[in-house]
Amino acid sequence: MPAEDDYTRRSQLEAELRPAFIARWAKIAARTKSSLVFVHSHPGRAAPEFSRIDDAGEEVLAHFFRHRTPDLQHLALVVSDGGYACRYLGSDRHLRLIAVGDDRRVLFDPSRSHDPSDLYDRQVRAFGRAGQSILQSLRVGIVGLGGTGSLAVQQLAHLGVKEFVLVDPDDVELTNLNRLAGSASADTGQAKVAVAERYIRAVQPRAVVTSFQENVVFVETAKKLRDVDVLFCCTDSHGSRAVLQQLAYQYLIPCIDIGTVIAVKGGKITHITGRAQMLSPGLACLTCGGLLDGNEVRRDMMSEAERKQDPYLVGAREPAPAVISINSTITSLAITMFLSAVVGVPSPARHLLYDGLRSRLRSVKGEPVQDCIVCSRAGVLARGDGLALQGRLAQNVNR
Ligand SMILES: [Zn+2]
Ligand SMILES: [Zn+2]
Repeated sequence: MPAEDDYTRRSQLEAELRPAFIARWAKIAARTKSSLVFVHSHPGRAAPEFSRIDDAGEEVLAHFFRHRTPDLQHLALVVSDGGYACRYLGSDRHLRLIAVGDDRRVLFDPSRSHDPSDLYDRQVRAFGRAGQSILQSLRVGIVGLGGTGSLAVQQLAHLGVKEFVLVDPDDVELTNLNRLAGSASADTGQAKVAVAERYIRAVQPRAVVTSFQENVVFVETAKKLRDVDVLFCCTDSHGSRAVLQQLAYQYLIPCIDIGTVIAVKGGKITHITGRAQMLSPGLACLTCGGLLDGNEVRRDMMSEAERKQDPYLVGAREPAPAVISINSTITSLAITMFLSAVVGVPSPARHLLYDGLRSRLRSVKGEPVQDCIVCSRAGVLARGDGLALQGRLAQNVNR
């Protein structure tokens, strides 16, 4: 923050920073490859708009920075009681503004459009017009389009989400049809992402759907999720969870991780459990909670050939039992958590455990481990493109 004597002029109506102050920060930006954000406020309750005075001031600044930091983009942000506006310094190109953390608010979206029809009337009555319009402006990433992911797709499409990035390497198999929402018996052999995309388009004809029939453990695939607003982890592998939680903390994208287990022993169901957990700055990650098995992560990062050569990995895994009703319970909990984070539905839990045998639902709060290699500042938190993602590297990422 500038100090009082960093200004040449400062009043209710105007503010001008000293050239020496700007020059000092230009140096810091160049050295640390950081973008600068010039923030000022406007009076009043209206949503702020950049003024002519802002335009003129920014033009001078932008000219200066084009010479001092030619590789960097800097931003201007104006705040009022009525909201925010943000643009590239000295240009007309506006940016969306999103709050970071376990609450994910779209504070400003230059392209936000209202749906004038009554299509979402019953939701508008719950979330308000502003809430509904936030839902419709979000870009949601879903990884894993099987038992839980296909249900997440259904609910999000009906809620009004219009932009999806879908990732799943698999085709539909006969044994998936008992729990693959939106699937029909003829879908065997189709890509799971294609079945999900078809469902979205049936509900949202104008949806923007980007599908990747790829495995997210590949770095190249994971990178394609960097610009989503919220992630859903609907896979059942430790490797994909490890990659997604890194994305969540490194790029400050809340990721809701969904897991369900039905365990059977001697012909009897011994466990019905589910977990919906948000991974986001300030919240403990899966590594803090001891929920990731290093050996399993390693296995998932290997190719089939590498797995065969590894003497420490034994046997193939048996297919686990899976039932649509349990998946629906947990997915619905996750989607309500999402609604709480993006439109303020007052349901503050960010880590829920379901115990089907006792019909019990518990909200828990794990403490982040100090200096955790993932979720702390000593880890990958907020490192963005400044740090490589960990995962498999390959030329061909089709599978
Ligand atoms: Zn202004
Ligand atoms: Zn952690």
